[in-house]
Amino acid sequence: MILFGILFFVLGTIIGSFLNVVAIRYNTGRSNGGRSSCYSCNKALSWYELFPVFSFIFLRGRCHHCKSKISWQYPLVELATGIIFLALFVFLNTSYSVLFSSYYILYTYYAVIFCLLIIISIYDFRHKIIPDSFSYAFSLISTIHLFFGNTSGWDFLAGPIFFLPFYLIWRVSDGKWMGLGDGKLVLGIGWLLGLIDGLSAIVLAFLIGATVALGIMVYQKIVSHSRRGLHFKSEIPFGPFLILGTVLIFFFRWDIMSLHALLSMIQ
Ligand SMILES: [Zn+2]
Repeated sequence: MILFGILFFVLGTIIGSFLNVVAIRYNTGRSNGGRSSCYSCNKALSWYELFPVFSFIFLRGRCHHCKSKISWQYPLVELATGIIFLALFVFLNTSYSVLFSSYYILYTYYAVIFCLLIIISIYDFRHKIIPDSFSYAFSLISTIHLFFGNTSGWDFLAGPIFFLPFYLIWRVSDGKWMGLGDGKLVLGIGWLLGLIDGLSAIVLAFLIGATVALGIMVYQKIVSHSRRGLHFKSEIPFGPFLILGTVLIFFFRWDIMSLHALLSMIQ
């Protein structure tokens, strides 16, 4: 079992390095194929520079040839993908046996969803926008979950119910407070997690997002003494927080609003 776990983790880090490439090259006209090269000196990377996470540590975060700094994004995404792939293995192993082929179908299904969410996080973090093609793909795949997940009829409405307030905020503020991309993202989150867990994910995202924003503001006040305020819209994208909330609730099912407890008391 431990061997399987390590295998899934390593697989995750390898796929994570591919997700980095996809997210960075998306909309740039560069294909996803071809050898990776340094973004500074353009020198093609050798085999020992292509190991996920380890190469970054081994090279101390610098290009072997030109010594320019390599972005922290690379090992961070690789590590995060590895952890998610490992968590998914542990999560599914509780109810399915690794020996059944249905296990791999289910594993692949969730892995595809998380890969999409990771790409969306990277892209939103870098460009402060969520590409429609990725959020629509995520929503579409999430609807499948309604048919085999532990869902009630209400969960079919979860997507549109979550989308509506985001849409209204977008309309009222003319897109200044929040982009519609976040609305398209919660559509899929609603269908993946259902009404109650989906709400927990969104509330958790706001809590983490607000904490981080506050932390950055305090940090800026202390460090720079500058009066420049933090512009939420332009500096902190909300998508990565929504996705972090979704991942945490998916694996841990925290009852943030105590709604599950409330419902079981009523029934
Ligand atoms: Zn270089």
